[in-house]
Amino acid sequence: MNAIAARVHRLLSELPAGVALEIAAKGRPVEQIRAAVEGGARLIGENYVQEAEKAISAVGRGVEWHFIGHLQTNKVRRAVELFDVIETVDSVELAAEIDGRCARAGKTMPVLIEVNSAREASKSGALPEETVALARQVAAMPRLRLMGLMTMGALSARDDDSRPYFALTRKLFDEIGWLNLPGADMKYLSMGMTDSYRVAVEEGATLVRIGRGIFEG
Ligand SMILES: *Cc1c(COP(=O)(O)O)cnc(C)c1O
Repeated sequence: MNAIAARVHRLLSELPAGVALEIAAKGRPVEQIRAAVEGGARLIGENYVQEAEKAISAVGRGVEWHFIGHLQTNKVRRAVELFDVIETVDSVELAAEIDGRCARAGKTMPVLIEVNSAREASKSGALPEETVALARQVAAMPRLRLMGLMTMGALSARDDDSRPYFALTRKLFDEIGWLNLPGADMKYLSMGMTDSYRVAVEEGATLVRIGRGIFEG
């Protein structure tokens, strides 16, 4: 087995039951993404619509494609055609744009709300105190299905630095779940990357997004 496939295989066997692995594929050649799929990867995260177009046509639709980048309004139409899940909804305007495009395409889109849990000005995402209200609005949109929350955590090399932000996002995730919103099915708590996924899993992540740890070892 190729080294990338072997790392995916090992990570899948190490993650606890109920935690799904998403491959963060940005900037990786399609052969490497294919190797990850051969190792058992079933969810692929893409940050850029154009890059995803190439990857999806090369790798195919036997896996689930998630959008995890910052989505510009002018890319929504294409994103709706390409992706199975959009993880980075952070405003009612963006949600409405996706909803409208889905109506025209005859689709329903599973979405996550991205939370700017560390309140970093450079990051996108809804602020924690806005998240529950946004969740209500997203869940009420006819063509969107709210499937959970996504967060980046702290922009830092030390893995434990993100713990309070993961804990905060988990709290919001639970709070939204308890509302039992008709348009919601809170399945994904998407948090944790190569340096922080162990901490994220301890704090309740059900989806971890790993790039470097798979492609660079
Ligand atoms: C790149 C990226 C990841 C993965 O980060 P690594 O440190 O390479 O594991 C996860 N989520 C998002 C949104 C990313 O852009």
